[in-house]
This record gives sequence, C-alpha cells and structure tokens, in this order.
Amino acid sequence: MVDTTAPREPARRTISNPYLHRLQRRHFLLFDVAPIVGAVAALALLPVLPFGVTEIALLVGMWIVTGLGITVGYHRLFTHRTFTASPATRTALAVAGSMAGQGGVVSWVAIHRRHHECSDREGDPHSPNLSGDGWRGVLRGLLHSHFLWMRRHEYPNVAHYAPDLLRDRRIVAVGRRYDTWVLLGLALPTLIGGLVHLSWAGALSGLLWGGLVRIVVLEHIIWAINSLLHRWGTKPYASRENSRNGGVFALLTFGESWHNNHHAFPESPTFGLQWYRPDPGFWLIRALQAVGLARDLRTPTAERIAAKKVTA
Ligand SMILES: [Zn+2]
Ligand SMILES: [Zn+2]
Repeated sequence: MVDTTAPREPARRTISNPYLHRLQRRHFLLFDVAPIVGAVAALALLPVLPFGVTEIALLVGMWIVTGLGITVGYHRLFTHRTFTASPATRTALAVAGSMAGQGGVVSWVAIHRRHHECSDREGDPHSPNLSGDGWRGVLRGLLHSHFLWMRRHEYPNVAHYAPDLLRDRRIVAVGRRYDTWVLLGLALPTLIGGLVHLSWAGALSGLLWGGLVRIVVLEHIIWAINSLLHRWGTKPYASRENSRNGGVFALLTFGESWHNNHHAFPESPTFGLQWYRPDPGFWLIRALQAVGLARDLRTPTAERIAAKKVTA
C-alpha cells in the first residue's frame, strides 16, 4: 500500500537522458548549424540571385519581429513576468519568439530561469566563467556559453521551473507547435520574396535573407549576451554573478545588452532603467501599455535602483 503520509519527493530540478540529448542534438543541427550553412549559401549565391531593397527589408523586418518576440515575449513577459498582457498579446509574442528558432517557449523559459538561479555557478547552463583559467579556459568558456552548450546539456525540469506556463493552455499549445512557427518564419519571407520578384529566384532569395540569414544574425546577437556580457563590460549595479552591460550594443540587441541592469533587477520591464539608455524592448512594452495591451509594469523605484548602485 502507498504511504500517503510520507513526504513527497521534491521535483527534480534537471533531467538528463539519452532521448532528451538526441532532441538537443537534433535542434542544434537543424536550428543552429543548418542556418549557418544557409547564410553561407546566401553569400555564395549573391551574384545570381536578386539582392536589393526587398531582401534587406525582409532581413531587417523579420529580425525586428522575432527579436522583439524573444526579448519582450520570451524574456521579459514569460520568463520574468515583468508585466501582464492579454491572452491574445501573449500568444502573438510567443509565436513571434518561436519563429526565431531558439527553442520552444516553455523550454526557453525553464533554461533561462535556471540561468538566473545558478548564474556563473555550477548548474548555470551557459556560463563562460567555469571552463578553467588562462587563455584556453577563457576561449573554451566563450565557445561553450556562446553556443556549444546547446549540443548536449542538462534539461531544466519544466514542472519545476515553469509551472505557471504549463497551466496556460494557450502557451502550451503554442509551444507544442514550435516547429510550425519556425517554418512559418521561413515561409513568410519566401512568399513575399517570390511575390515581389514574381520568380522562384526571388522566393529563394527571400528564404535565404529573411529566413536563414536572419536566424543566424539574431541567434548570435542573443548568444553574445550569454557569452561576452558575462565576461566583459561595465557593472554599475551590485549582483552576485559576473553579468555586464555593453551599452554600445543596446539598439542592436533590443535593450538586452543592459545585462548587468537586468540581473540586478530581473523583475524590471525596462533593462535600460533610465530614459537615456536606449531599450527598444521597453519601447514596445510602453507602446503596448499605451494602447491597453500591457499592464502592471513592475518598474523598480528610483530608491531601489539607487540602493543597488555600486559606488566607486
Ligand atoms: Zn533574464
Ligand atoms: Zn545572464
């Protein structure tokens, strides 16, 4: 007979098994390595395929949509719950983030919450600071944290790290169709490219520049936060890990490069914290707020920000 009075075993924080590792290897090859091959092909085919305003617009347009999907949706809304939004807005942001090809929303959130829990200590899935000393250790750490960690890693148990998302049936449904959203993110620029040029070559150019090159560009921008900005940059606010700010990259990263600010105030919808630090992700949240689609912004008070300021 089962002893119902016995204390329940706490949910395991991470899971590691051959099936999960096979999925991780598949995702790594399909969504991380294959787009690089596509980007090389895009460059090689430049002399024979159309490349002009349409391709640049598709690259930039899709990069902005998916980049904001990651920073505003995956990161600020779903991982850190820095504001609340209507079900339709949540779904739209989850779909936009999914099209980036950086993993399903529930997995992404679980991995990122684990990163905040263990930052730069054992258990952090992608710290650049745990691979030994000397230039070899630095290089190994950078490559690991930038993207090699994704080949095979402990999987944070979503029941432990993302129970709130598992209770949201819409978001679970979006997560289950992750592959479909990535394909949609490739199909859209393909279709637009084909229609604009009225040719198969135009469609292929749209796929390469608005799809695969765009995935590579955004992936490396987001991964650089994990690698470079846990190693170099400024640290204006007290936080126990080695997170840093890289202000010059603020526009390129949609505000994500205020990474020390973010670790110091993870509940904050603004990563820039002050108006003079550019933060496109926060600009979108303010725009959503202005039209009633975002509410309950947990912006830290000026006193709380001042209290964490590191005095020289
Ligand atoms: Zn975060
Ligand atoms: Zn971090």
